[in-house]
Amino acid sequence: MMDYLYAPWRTAYITNEEKIEGCVFCHISAHPELDDKHHVLYRDESCFVVMNRYPYTPGHFMIIPHTHTDALETLDSAVWLRISALAQRGVAMLKEGFGAEGVNLGMNLGAAAGAGIAEHIHLHLVPRFPRDTNFITTIGHARVYSTDFQRVYEKLKAMVPGYFAL
Ligand SMILES: [Zn+2]
Repeated sequence: MMDYLYAPWRTAYITNEEKIEGCVFCHISAHPELDDKHHVLYRDESCFVVMNRYPYTPGHFMIIPHTHTDALETLDSAVWLRISALAQRGVAMLKEGFGAEGVNLGMNLGAAAGAGIAEHIHLHLVPRFPRDTNFITTIGHARVYSTDFQRVYEKLKAMVPGYFAL
């Protein structure tokens, strides 16, 4: 299931928008001037927070270290602590600001675990709502609701200063 949900990301970036050489997440990390285009919500010295273009539910975003690594176990502990702190803020934002009744939080480490971009670790935050499994069944691929995607991005982006100012 996770393969199906997250794997299309890379294809989308190559075919729909810009030609990206190498790691998509490193590209986003290196280009703060393109944050709106990439739907980045927040960035600091350690990490950035970006919407998932193929969301499991509306409001699905990821917290990603600037460091390119596939190994959580050797990630700088200070960076991991920052990711954890941002995850707490992100959960608060999704629950209080976005009306989520639950949140799935997780990492798929390695292709065998279902990571779409296995070479650069990332933490998923997926807001959950009553009956959202119906929503997922209905949309199949999230591509069909790109207008909503932009609206959700703008809504969350407006909340970020209140939550991610650490
Ligand atoms: Zn990378």
